[in-house]
Amino acid sequence: MSKPQRPGHCELAYFPVVNNQLQAGGQSVAQLAQQLGDTPFYAYDRAIIDQRIQALRDLLPDPIRLHYAVKANPMPELVQHIAQQVDGLDIASQGELTSALQTGIDPRHISFTGPGKGTNELQTAIDAGVILNIESATEMRCIARLAAKSGVRPRLTLRVNPDFALKSSGMRMGGGATPFGIDAEQVPALLKELATLDLECLGFHIFAGSQNLRAAAIMEAQNATLALATRLAEYAPSPVRLLNMGGGFGIPYFPGEQPLDVKPIGENLAQLVEQAKTTLPEAELALELGRYLVGEAGIYVCRVLDKKVSRGQVFLVTDGGLHQHLAASGNFGQVIRKNYPVVIGNKMAGEKTDVVNIVGRLCTPLDLLADKVELPQTEIGDLVVILQSGAYGLTASPTAFLSHPAPKEILL
Ligand SMILES: *Cc1c(COP(=O)(O)O)cnc(C)c1O
Repeated sequence: MSKPQRPGHCELAYFPVVNNQLQAGGQSVAQLAQQLGDTPFYAYDRAIIDQRIQALRDLLPDPIRLHYAVKANPMPELVQHIAQQVDGLDIASQGELTSALQTGIDPRHISFTGPGKGTNELQTAIDAGVILNIESATEMRCIARLAAKSGVRPRLTLRVNPDFALKSSGMRMGGGATPFGIDAEQVPALLKELATLDLECLGFHIFAGSQNLRAAAIMEAQNATLALATRLAEYAPSPVRLLNMGGGFGIPYFPGEQPLDVKPIGENLAQLVEQAKTTLPEAELALELGRYLVGEAGIYVCRVLDKKVSRGQVFLVTDGGLHQHLAASGNFGQVIRKNYPVVIGNKMAGEKTDVVNIVGRLCTPLDLLADKVELPQTEIGDLVVILQSGAYGLTASPTAFLSHPAPKEILL
């Protein structure tokens, strides 16, 4: 088979290689498989997370608060580990609220976002004293009713659906018609009503998009975010004390993608911090990041169970699959299926001589983990490692589909 002419994945060197073996947390993936009893598994390396957070802090101006969006990876130990290094946690369900509270973080630094929050969830969140990021007028009224019964004054932010979009985002979250937040044009009327209720309005949350690798696009959205918040602040019943600017920082997943350059974003944020001193003098500015903090620190490891040839193509059949890593199969929001970076963890130095397809064990053609990928000669028993798997991996996958046991997760 002729070699495909395609741009490759960018160099990813977070996990060291020793004697041809990919290592995580100081052990080879083969040792980890042995220790865990079996494949498949996810492994997350806290040293890589720590480095990422530190490097980011070094580039961001000090006043910027850094929050972790728990849904990117809600593994309790991992959330616990990250909670000690960030200024807040963003959660989207009662389950995430429970994990967030278990970390011991001050509940005033937890914010609860998401459409369709249930009454019980809202009550729990109000009682816990977390920030409620409201998504609609209905939700605001419900919070006011619940609070009146329990005698607490809830603290909330308004999630604004901005009148602009984050350009070239993997996932757009604002700009047009969306179920997320309150359209910017509806915010003044809502704030007027809010002023009549016994609610404490801290400010705004504006999240314009996700998985962006272009610094210029992120900077443009952040500038527009501060401008919008400044305009809306005129209608607020009290000075804005918190402006959550969302995140959108992406990581390279696919061939041809390059890592995000955070330095200019940090410089731009420093200017915005200065600007906010006059336009929103009481406001703290926050970023909330998910995948950027954890995505590159995780791997998914499965084992080759079978090697078959069909009409000239080689198929490596693994004990993993889309039920455990939906995103790598291309079925979690990709428009055109592309390969995640894949290596053979026990053959890191081998010359890439083969072109193979890597599939899972599900009876569906969707269960494709790598399509015509170049690898060293791979045999039954070898360990397939999918990189960039620390975010939106296990918990973003339909693990019940086909009733295989769930993979293990380990934080190293
Ligand atoms: C999912 C989500 C995030 C995190 O997105 P990433 O792309 O993982 O950084 C941040 N904020 C909100 C409101 C979200 O829904």
